[in-house]
Amino acid sequence: MTTYSNAKMLINGEWVSDGGAGSMPVINPATEQVIGECPKASIEQLDAALAAADAGFAIWSNTPGIERYRALRRSADLLRERAPAIARVVTLEMGKPHAQALGETNGAADLIDFLAEEAKRQGGRLVPVRSANLLEQRVTQEPIGPAVLLTPWNFPINLAAKKLGGALAAGCSVILKPAETTPASSQMLVECFVDGGVPAGVINCVYGDPAMISEHLIAAPETRKVSFTGSTAIGKHLGSLAAQHMKRFTPELGGHAPVVIGESADFERTIAACVGTKFRNAGQVCVSPTRFLVARNIYDNFVAEFAKRSQDISVGDASVDDSVSMGPLAHGGRVTAMVELMDALGGTNGEIVSGGCAIDGPGHFFQPTVIAAPALDSAMMTQEPFGPVAGIVPYDNIEDAVSIANSLRYGLAAYAFTADLDESHYLGRSLRAGMVAINHFAVGSPETPFGGVGDSGFGSESGVEGYLGYTETKLVTVAKSAP
Ligand code: NAD
Repeated sequence: MTTYSNAKMLINGEWVSDGGAGSMPVINPATEQVIGECPKASIEQLDAALAAADAGFAIWSNTPGIERYRALRRSADLLRERAPAIARVVTLEMGKPHAQALGETNGAADLIDFLAEEAKRQGGRLVPVRSANLLEQRVTQEPIGPAVLLTPWNFPINLAAKKLGGALAAGCSVILKPAETTPASSQMLVECFVDGGVPAGVINCVYGDPAMISEHLIAAPETRKVSFTGSTAIGKHLGSLAAQHMKRFTPELGGHAPVVIGESADFERTIAACVGTKFRNAGQVCVSPTRFLVARNIYDNFVAEFAKRSQDISVGDASVDDSVSMGPLAHGGRVTAMVELMDALGGTNGEIVSGGCAIDGPGHFFQPTVIAAPALDSAMMTQEPFGPVAGIVPYDNIEDAVSIANSLRYGLAAYAFTADLDESHYLGRSLRAGMVAINHFAVGSPETPFGGVGDSGFGSESGVEGYLGYTETKLVTVAKSAP
């Protein structure tokens, strides 16, 4: 039985259990039972975190990169050591199976390792001078300043680690505001950084009313950078706040990822990968494959096999059963969203071939669901489902498939399966997305940039870009002091 401790905020190196604005319950989505309490920050507590981050920035930005690297490497090692316990808390708070939570946590340690290494490598560059009078032109990447990091509940460790790793490696101080549904998971991650040697004030963590916190922190003069992962609607709102106060902003938003499946694709490998990936994290993944575009002559077989295999997915309370392959949705609102999506089906809007219903409670469970032939303008094909739902439509030629894939304003991940080399090159070039994966679904490695285009946001996290996003460019140009 996993024990759950009430969440604490971290302000200027002090763990704070009393929220100046009260507290909120934390609920296990598999049982709907309250498992603990989480403090809600008051304006005064936010101001204390801002002051700490400001002072912390002066310390951390002047700490040599090698020392920042060492502290982050120790933090990553602690995260690996503590991963089994942290993963249990992730499952308790948001429902994903233990193996997935463990993979997420160990993957986050790899992310921190990679970003820490960049603190040793990013030294800037010298630019050749145009005049004999000039001695040097030096371009450096300076840490941007205190960063506000707003992270969601679907990957409470990985998505926070991407932001914390990049910001701390680059020399920024941070105020993390994790999702209110998964506070203890994120706190356990923050504890690794504290125990790894990141000084007091450099890393702060607050919880509470998301709108109040983001409005206050973004407007504060101490804040220099805002990074948000979440929905497009909230991302646009936060982007307008950041613009108003001239703050650098990185939004990592929703998607509605297409998967183009060519007739030359290896059928067995493709269907196994599609079903396995679709229902990971109950489909609550920004890069989850959602619009399956399948060559017409393999379409019927693909739909039938997808439906059959989706019925083999074991759904249940992963906090008490490690054999479960899909847990609950994160909260009741997600079930309501799935029910509304199903209500919009019928006629040309698509037919449910498997699943389609909420599972009787307790717990926020929804069946793995397969929808055949939804019209291209239906809710299923135009609105991000963010749940365990796959829409499958046939296409007649590859250009049509690309045009359907590119028809939305989202552009996060796009996938294709094909054994045809020319088709593979064409798809890699033509699919409009920040990330295109061909013959696999793994777009989230520590070494590569992760980010979208259009309504899916801009900027990248992880990879070298995940470090550079927390820096600003500075030129120092030096002329001779006398002719
Ligand atoms: P929601 O919009 O209520 O909350 C999503 C997240 O945004 C939460 O973590 C919340 O703390 C945060 N948030 C909400 N309002 C905010 C504000 N004003 N300032 C700062 N943060 C704020 O929706 P939900 O039902 O919990 O989640 C579903 C939606 O969220 C989906 O549309 C999905 O696209 C999106 N989402 C995306 C990701 C992602 O990885 N891109 C992750 C989680 C949720």
